[in-house]
Amino acid sequence: SGQQITPEMLNHLSTTSFPLCMRHMHEYLNTQHHLKHGGRMQYGLFLKAAGLKLEDALKFWRSHFTKNMDVDKFEKQYAYNIRHNYGKEGKRTDYTPYSCMKIITTNVGAGDCHGCPFKHNDSNILKQKLINYQVSSDIVNEILDLTNKHHYQIACQRYFEAKHHSTIESGVNHPNQYFEESVAILH
Ligand code: SF4
Repeated sequence: SGQQITPEMLNHLSTTSFPLCMRHMHEYLNTQHHLKHGGRMQYGLFLKAAGLKLEDALKFWRSHFTKNMDVDKFEKQYAYNIRHNYGKEGKRTDYTPYSCMKIITTNVGAGDCHGCPFKHNDSNILKQKLINYQVSSDIVNEILDLTNKHHYQIACQRYFEAKHHSTIESGVNHPNQYFEESVAILH
């Protein structure tokens, strides 16, 4: 899609239109100002496909990371990878954002916050998160039941429905599809 988003829009969009996986990483960044490599890839490529331009991506990541490190370290250790994800360095591969299947089947270790919360979060943590996001208790229970049965993408669809009072007819297959369907409804 040809839409463009800017760093200033992300706090709002993360609450209205991001799937839970991306909302979770955005909130983690807001409090910790850091993401490990797996998170930077998953969230960074999502933001690129959602319409965040390279210069804005550098600005966004720099604004967080330099709360914990100096600009020099950021430029040396992290800026290259961001440019790389946009195909501006190295082999100039244009990296595509991860699908739900790729995210759900990825390895997530302790201290990582990427992955799919419906798959990788402990169910008590998932439950608390959904309650905090004002999802009704009926739907929270339905979502937990679905995740116990390994129906992660259907659980994600229920979360979408709870937030939009509308559904994704084809089901949720990709975080950027989730985002685009949401923006089409809300904006
Ligand atoms: Fe993200 Fe897909 Fe999981 Fe939804 S089902 S939270 S879009 S990985």
